[in-house]
Amino acid sequence: PSSYKVVVIGGGAGGLAVSSTLSNTLGKGEVAVVDPSSVHNQQPLWTFVGAGLKQLDETQKPMAEVVSPNATLIPEAAAKIDPESNTVTLADGTKISYEYLVVAAGIKLDFEAIKGLPEALGRDGVASNYSADYVEKTWEFLQKFDGGNAVFTMPSTPIKCAGAPQKIAYLAEEHIRSKGLRGKSRVIYNTGIGKIFAIDKYADALTKVAASRGVEVNLLHDLVEVKPKERKAVFKVLGDGPQAGQQIETPYNFLHVTPPMRPYDFLKNSALANAAGFVDVDKETLRHTKFANVYSLGDCSSLPTSKTAAAVSAQSYVVKHNLLADIRGEKRPAERYDGYTSCPLITGRNKLILAEFSGYTGKPQETFAFDQSKETAFAYWLTSSVLPSIYWKGLLQGTWRGPSPIRPLLNPTGSN
Ligand code: FAD
Repeated sequence: PSSYKVVVIGGGAGGLAVSSTLSNTLGKGEVAVVDPSSVHNQQPLWTFVGAGLKQLDETQKPMAEVVSPNATLIPEAAAKIDPESNTVTLADGTKISYEYLVVAAGIKLDFEAIKGLPEALGRDGVASNYSADYVEKTWEFLQKFDGGNAVFTMPSTPIKCAGAPQKIAYLAEEHIRSKGLRGKSRVIYNTGIGKIFAIDKYADALTKVAASRGVEVNLLHDLVEVKPKERKAVFKVLGDGPQAGQQIETPYNFLHVTPPMRPYDFLKNSALANAAGFVDVDKETLRHTKFANVYSLGDCSSLPTSKTAAAVSAQSYVVKHNLLADIRGEKRPAERYDGYTSCPLITGRNKLILAEFSGYTGKPQETFAFDQSKETAFAYWLTSSVLPSIYWKGLLQGTWRGPSPIRPLLNPTGSN
């Protein structure tokens, strides 16, 4: 089989952040990137696309253009990993071998897990920002909405960008109000988990935002079925409260679904997976717990922090440092990932709460010296106008490792 010094599975945010630096450092032909997708998606921008604030084509680039010229792009899906023999079998049956493996395949959207959803999606008011195929439908259906129930869902599984399911609710609420339809509309946010956001500081701020905007928040309400003919969404009440176990039918005129997500089968079925199916890595060094020549980062990894591109920025630096030290046989101290992640919680067309925290300590790690749980126009501008370029030109090129190097300058006391 063809063999490479490093094989990277996935040409998403994590795969490209790592493969760009590694291929430029190791030279042409040493690093392969395996990804069947012909486009790379800057997914964080899809919240803006769903609200009509950006176009889908601004979020996509041909994969061949964003993979470093020093890396070899293999446009196939990885189908099987055998870490005992250091080989990856591709969907077409070809085998490739590696000395080091980096797994960054992302997380699978599981629309099929919701009864009726695959048939309903993209029609009659049902959309999802989570997929390139349906994100434009969000804006199309919001424009057609003329009152009634606008319903937004968040599943009970781990998902990428846990804030995105509610960001679109705030943007939609603003749109509905601006059209003069607020008086004859309800905006309902049903989440399968028990809190509006994992970190209390931001959860408190979001609870106030939702209340002030009249967004009805129902915790532990997990979408289980969509009935497109009747235009009803069915929620199962989780937890152990008085309504637990009951199913509640909510009529909708617009329905934004965040699907349940799960690890891809080829990872779940591999020797690399933990019991939940995620690639089992040390949470600080990002090295596999059993196979020392394997690393993983991003949404497919077991890292116990919130799954975001911001987290990938910090993780990619750690993977590259530690992997290059392995390759060169250097005894450098390992870089350690501290669980940093960030979620830009857009609450309106010019307002944003910039949550930044460690998923390991649960403590805020704010880059700026102001209280980032406050809605600001500055944070909105940063997210809509600055971060997209940092993503293309910094993260994917391997030069952006997140804000940790600039934080001591901008927020010297780390008071927030
Ligand atoms: P991805 O970037 O998803 O890349 C995975 C890659 O693996 C893909 O290119 C895929 O084609 C490939 N792949 C899949 N299967 C295989 C296979 N079998 N073989 C080979 N390749 C395979 N993050 C933020 O930081 N801020 C935000 O505001 C934000 N908002 C978001 C809003 C939405 C609507 C969505 C969907 C995501 C958002 N995110 C946000 C999350 C962010 O996009 C992801 O966390 C990030 O892209 C994870 O990077 P990754 O490399 O792990 O996975």
